[in-house]
Amino acid sequence: MEPLLVIAIMGGVFALAIAAARSHHAHQVRELDRLAALLGGTVRTDAGWFASLDRTRVRGTYERHAVEVQYEVRGSGKSKRTYAVVQVRVRAAIADFRIRPAGVLKRIGRWLGLVSDTKTGNERVDDAFILDGRPDALAGLFAQGEAERHLRALFREQGASEVALRGGTLSIRFQVNGVARAKVASAILNLVSLAKLCDRKPIEVRIKGAAPGAKRFGWTGGTEHAMCPYCRDQIESAEELPLSACSSCHTVHHTECLEEAGGCTVFGCGGGRRAGERVR
Ligand SMILES: [Zn+2]
Ligand SMILES: [Zn+2]
Repeated sequence: MEPLLVIAIMGGVFALAIAAARSHHAHQVRELDRLAALLGGTVRTDAGWFASLDRTRVRGTYERHAVEVQYEVRGSGKSKRTYAVVQVRVRAAIADFRIRPAGVLKRIGRWLGLVSDTKTGNERVDDAFILDGRPDALAGLFAQGEAERHLRALFREQGASEVALRGGTLSIRFQVNGVARAKVASAILNLVSLAKLCDRKPIEVRIKGAAPGAKRFGWTGGTEHAMCPYCRDQIESAEELPLSACSSCHTVHHTECLEEAGGCTVFGCGGGRRAGERVR
């Protein structure tokens, strides 16, 4: 073969490879921008068009919650894997926890007495998840059916191996193929929904005859207002209904609601069945 022809063919192949890499990169940048748009935020990535996704961050907020997505690339060649780490801030979180889906191994481990995790007393929950955290807080967490639904979705759709709340940040990590915008977006939605169940904010409640400066929290459900966590009406409204605070987590409920619910209804609180303390 003519050497010039060989050089021409090699040049052509090289140009095609460059064009493919460029178009792949352009697609990746578009997907990251769309993810940032969902969060009204920004993308921080390495410049250049064969830059890896590794350490690329998308930051912003979703329904008033600070969200950060970080990509991690591990290994090389055939064992190269890309992971997305999604973190959502929770306001005034009560207790840390770690929840993992229970597989066949857990059931065998339990049978052999090798697995000792936290029990909530809810058989379905204890069977389906491996729990680490305060038993009372976890029981309170799963008392909200919504919580179980979002957790199951994260384990099933994202294939996350655990959902953790640590130092006020909810986080999950799962394997992705590229930016995986839809998969990451759905993780954000589920994680923010979980965060809303945990959110509280410090509030001022006029307390007759009580010591001033006592710590009280209002459940916000992801809004700017303190609401009764049971009936979800604003507790700062003009209506002067009697209020009571949970004696464990100090979150304010309508007195009537706290009584009707038979105890604190805050996600993650173990105040449970104890009586509340009247604050208004
Ligand atoms: Zn209420
Ligand atoms: Zn409570």
